[in-house]
Amino acid sequence: MRRWNGWGDTTTVHLPPPEAEEFLKKKIGAGKRPLDITYEQALKMVPISRFSPHPLISSKPGDRLYHARGQSLPDWIALRSGRIGVFPDGVAYPATDEEVRLLIKYANKTGTKIIPYGGGTSVVGHINPLSGEMPVLTVDMSRMNRMLHFDVAGNLATFGAGIAGPDLEAQLRARDCTLGHFPQSFELSTLGGWIAARSCGQQSLGYGRIERLFAGGHLEAPAGSIDIPAFPASAAGPDLREIIMGSEGRFGILTQATMRVSFLPEKEELHALFFPEFNEGCRAASEMLQAKLPLCMLRLSCSNETQTMLPLSGSKKLVDILECYLTLRRLDENKCLLLVGISGYDKIVRAARHEALDIADNHRAVYIGKTFGKQWHKNRFRTPYLRNGLWEMGYAVDTLETATDWDNLPDLLEQMESSLSEGLNDIGEKVHVFTHLSQMYAGGSSIYTSYIYRIADNPEETLRRWQVLKQAVSKIIVTKGGTISHQHGVGYDHLPYLKMEKGELGMKVIADMCRRFDPRGIMNPGKLINR
Ligand SMILES: Cc1cc2nc3c(=O)[nH]c(=O)nc-3n(C[C@H](O)[C@H](O)[C@H](O)COP(=O)(O)OP(=O)(O)OC[C@H]3O[C@@H](n4cnc5c(N)ncnc54)[C@H](O)[C@@H]3O)c2cc1C
Repeated sequence: MRRWNGWGDTTTVHLPPPEAEEFLKKKIGAGKRPLDITYEQALKMVPISRFSPHPLISSKPGDRLYHARGQSLPDWIALRSGRIGVFPDGVAYPATDEEVRLLIKYANKTGTKIIPYGGGTSVVGHINPLSGEMPVLTVDMSRMNRMLHFDVAGNLATFGAGIAGPDLEAQLRARDCTLGHFPQSFELSTLGGWIAARSCGQQSLGYGRIERLFAGGHLEAPAGSIDIPAFPASAAGPDLREIIMGSEGRFGILTQATMRVSFLPEKEELHALFFPEFNEGCRAASEMLQAKLPLCMLRLSCSNETQTMLPLSGSKKLVDILECYLTLRRLDENKCLLLVGISGYDKIVRAARHEALDIADNHRAVYIGKTFGKQWHKNRFRTPYLRNGLWEMGYAVDTLETATDWDNLPDLLEQMESSLSEGLNDIGEKVHVFTHLSQMYAGGSSIYTSYIYRIADNPEETLRRWQVLKQAVSKIIVTKGGTISHQHGVGYDHLPYLKMEKGELGMKVIADMCRRFDPRGIMNPGKLINR
C-alpha cells in the first residue's frame, strides 16, 4: 500500500545509516522528530464533498486525502502537520476514453475544475487543488494502464497514459524491449505525467528525454479530441506533440501515448571514476560527449555530494577501504565521483569503455571499476525512501534543478549553492547543500541540487524556511542564465518565475492555447499560467 504522507510503498523501508545522522548533526545540528498527525486524524479533516452522487466519482475521504497533495516539501509539511488546506471534492478512476470524455463533459457543463492525476509524484504543486467556488475533481488515470498496441517493425508501443514505470517496463521487457526512461520517481510516476511535465530520466543521455520518446497519442480536451499519429517524421506544420508536452494538464487529458522503444541492449555497464576536482570531471565528461561515445549516462557529483553520498553507498568497512585507496592515490576532500553508463552491442561497449577511460585518464581520474556503479544502480529507486527516515530524524529535504550552458555553469552553480547554504543565516540555522550534474548535453548541463535543513518546532516556520530558500535560489536561477526547470516542470511553485523565461508574448501564447483547448478554464487552474 502506498504511503499517504511520504514516499513509496509502506512495505519498503530504506533508512539512512547511523553515520548519516552523525554526519548531519555535525553539519547542521541535531534534528528533533516532529509530531506528525495520524492517518485517522487527517481523514477527519476532509470536508463534505460538493458533488452530488455520480457513478464515476468517489467522494470517499480516503480517496480525497490520497489525492490532495503531491511530493514537494510543502506537500510533505502539509500532510505531516495536518495543514492540508484544500482537498478535491471527488476522485474519478476512468477506465476508457469514453469515461474520460463523459467526465470532461460533466465538468464543462457544471463548471467543475479537473485535475488530471498520474502518479501524484509532482514536486512543484502540479496536482494540488486550489480553493475556489467550484468543486474540484481529480481524475486519476491509474486504470488506463495497459499496453494497447505493439508495432515490432516500427519499434513503437502504445499504452494507456496512466501506466506507471514498472508496469510499462515489465510489458516491454517481455518483448525484449525497453523505453529507457528512468526518472528517480519511476516506481510511482506514469507515462501521462512524464509527457505532461516533460520528464527526464537517469539514462536519457542514451535513450533521450521524454520529448524524443513520445511519438504520438490521444488527448481528450473540453474543446474536443486530438489524435496525433506516430509518423517516423513529418513536415506538416507545427508539431502538436510539442504543444502537448509540458501542458501540465491544462489542455486536456492524455489518454494514450505511442512511444518509441528500443531493443534491450546486449550489454550495459556502469563505471565509477573519481576526479581530483570538479572542473577536471566536467572537462572529461564534456570530451566524452564530444567524442559521441554510445553513453547512456553521465552523472558527475560535486565534492559536497561525493562526501555526502559516499558514507551512504555501502557497508562502512568497504567505504573505509575505498577512502583509504583514494587517499593513497592522492585524492582529498575535493574529489568528485563520475558515473559513466555505456550500453549497446558488446563490441561497441568495449570500444567505448576504452575511449571513455582514456579520456578520464588524461584528466587524472582514478578508476574504481563497476562494483560501485552496480550498487548505485541497485539502490537508485530506493534513495527517495531516505526522505521518510530523514524526516523522522528531524530533517527536511528538498531538491531543485535547472540547466545552463557550460560557460555559465560554474558561476550559476556556485551562486545557487551559496544562496541556499547562507539562506537561513539570519536565524542561525545551517543548510547542508550538495549538487550533481544529472544530465549533460553537448551545449551544457543540468544542475541538480539537494538541500537539507532542520525541521522547526512548528510547521509554519518549517514552511517559511523553505519559502525563503526556494525564492532566493529561484531568483538566482532565472536571473543568472538558468531555466526555471530542467525536468520537474512549472506547476504552482515555479509559476512566478516562468515569465522571466518565456517573456510577455510567450505567456500570452500559452494562455491562448489553454483557452483554445479549454474555453471555460476548467482544466488544472492556477498551474503553468496564472488563472
Ligand atoms: C522522489 C522523486 C524523484 C523524482 N525524480 C524525477 C526525475 O528523475 N526526473 C523527472 O523528470 N522528474 C522527477 N520527479 C518529478 C515527477 O516524478 C515528474 O514530474 C513526473 O513526470 C510526474 O509524473 P506523475 O505521473 O507522477 O504525474 P503527476 O504528478 O500526477 O502530474 C504531473 C502533471 O502532469 C499532469 N498529468 C498527469 N497525467 C496526465 C495525463 N494523462 N494527461 C494530462 N495531464 C496529465 C498533471 O495534471 C500534472 O500537471 C521526481 C519526483 C519525486 C517525488
